[in-house]
Amino acid sequence: MRHAFFGDIHANLEALRAVLADMITQRIDDMYCLGDIVGYGANPSECIAIIRDLACPAVGGNHDAAAAGKLAVDQFNEYARAAIIWTRRHLSQEETDWLLALPLIRHFPDYSIVHSSLDDPGDFNYVDSVVEAAACFRKMQRPLCFIGHSHVPVVFFEDEPQALPRYTLSLDQTIQIEGRMIVNPGSVGQPRDEDPRAAYCIYDSDEMQITFRRVSYDTAAAAGKVRAAGLPELLAFRLEIGR
Ligand code: ZN
Repeated sequence: MRHAFFGDIHANLEALRAVLADMITQRIDDMYCLGDIVGYGANPSECIAIIRDLACPAVGGNHDAAAAGKLAVDQFNEYARAAIIWTRRHLSQEETDWLLALPLIRHFPDYSIVHSSLDDPGDFNYVDSVVEAAACFRKMQRPLCFIGHSHVPVVFFEDEPQALPRYTLSLDQTIQIEGRMIVNPGSVGQPRDEDPRAAYCIYDSDEMQITFRRVSYDTAAAAGKVRAAGLPELLAFRLEIGR
């Protein structure tokens, strides 16, 4: 089976469409959404509609919770805050209710999905160091965990439960699964690893491999919509540079 994991879409319709088109070429059996469907971008309703139509398992991110009013905006920086307030104004009550109903964690036979970390997922801490990865590994009850949130593709490896995990950011090739792993495929709609292409990953459970995919999309169109919506200029500019 070939499972696709994607998240941090951030209301970027152009990036989401490009990733879904790429998945068709990759013979995907099923897909899983890692949260942050909305926030930052100009097409929140359109992206929610696509995820609902896919009917794939999804978890909620901090921007989904904030847009739905479940998380206070003062926890966010000024650009994120402006985008959350804009998003709240542009969602219907029905879309807001759908975001509110997203669970924080979902478990499957050989993997779990969560937006931030299995360790206090409602706190939305970043797994961006071996210390946070170790805390997440301690809560892991499956061989694999797929996360989002940092917008930077990374894999953490647990060689021995007592030692600190290893990690790699060099993900332009296929990774063979060895031991337990925490996998962040990167962001569909707002990459921050200096590669503006949309990111997702594929777990092949027969080959026991994970492949990281990058997909070019019309960044100028998505950035143009952010500017036309009156959202902060930085949110448009960063799409073009991938930071
Ligand atoms: Zn995000």
